[in-house]
Amino acid sequence: MESVRTFGAFLLIVICLFGCAPEEKAPAGPATSEARLRLYVFDCGALEVDDVSMFDLTLEEAGTTELFVPCYLIDHPKGRLLWDLGLPLSVMTGEFALDEGSATLERSVEDQLTEIELTKGDIDFVALSHLHFDHCGQAPVFADRKQLIQRLEYEAAFAEPQTVPFYDRQWYEALENADRTLLDGEHDVFGDGRVVIKPAPGHTPGHQILFLELEETGPLVLSGDLYHYPANRSLRRPPKFNVDPAQTLVSMDATEAFLKETGATLWIEHDAKLAATLRKSPEFYE
Ligand SMILES: [Zn+2]
Repeated sequence: MESVRTFGAFLLIVICLFGCAPEEKAPAGPATSEARLRLYVFDCGALEVDDVSMFDLTLEEAGTTELFVPCYLIDHPKGRLLWDLGLPLSVMTGEFALDEGSATLERSVEDQLTEIELTKGDIDFVALSHLHFDHCGQAPVFADRKQLIQRLEYEAAFAEPQTVPFYDRQWYEALENADRTLLDGEHDVFGDGRVVIKPAPGHTPGHQILFLELEETGPLVLSGDLYHYPANRSLRRPPKFNVDPAQTLVSMDATEAFLKETGATLWIEHDAKLAATLRKSPEFYE
C-alpha cells in the first residue's frame, strides 16, 4: 500500500514536471492558439493627395496620388500589439476633411478586431510609428492600453509651442496621460527578438519602425513613414515636410543596412500598389 502511495506521489511529481508548469499567458480569442507569431493587416483608410510634390516627388516618380493607410495587429503568444492606428473616425462620418486632398475610411479598427473575435481588452500594447493624424487617428479609442512611444516623440508632441509639422494635439491628446513606456531607442516588445521596435527619426523626432520575425513569411520591417512611396526609397529622397531631412537620410541608411543584414523585406506602409497585393484581415501572415 505504501509503495502504491509512493509510486502515486512519484507519478504526480513526474506529471507535474512536464505538465504543471505555469502556462504562458494565452489571451482570449482564436488567434493565439499556437506559439506562432501572426500579423494581421487592417484597412485603416486611404488618402488621395492633390500634389505629390510635398513628398519631393513628381507625379511620374510617385506613380499615383493615392496612399494606403494600414493598421496592423501583431499577435504574439505572450500578448498582442497594435501598430499604427490609421485615420480618425471623424473621416468616416465626414466631419474631418483634408485641405489638400481627400481621406476615406470604411471600417474602424475595433470593427476589424471584432471580425477576428477580439476586443479592445485583448490588446496589450499600442505602438504608433509616429503621431501624425493618419497613424494615430484612432488612438483615443485605445488610450487605455499600454503605449510604447519614443521619449522624443512624446516630448515633442506635447511641447508648447508646437513646432513639428503636422502634429495636431486633437488627434493624440488622449495619450498625454495614458499608461506608457517611454522608449529611448530599440525595444524588444516580448523579449524574444521576434517583435522589435526600432528608432528611425527624421520624419518626426521620435519616428519608429517595426521589425517582425515571421516564421513562414520571413523577417519583415513595417516602414512607418520612413518612406511614403517606393520612389522615396529608390531616389533616397525624404519628403519636404520632414522635421529633419538630414536625420531622415541617416535613418534610411541605417534601415537599409539592417534590411541587408537580416534579409528582411520592407513594407512601405502607404504603398497603395503593395497594399493591393496584401492579404487583409481576417487573413493573416505567419
Ligand atoms: Zn503617414
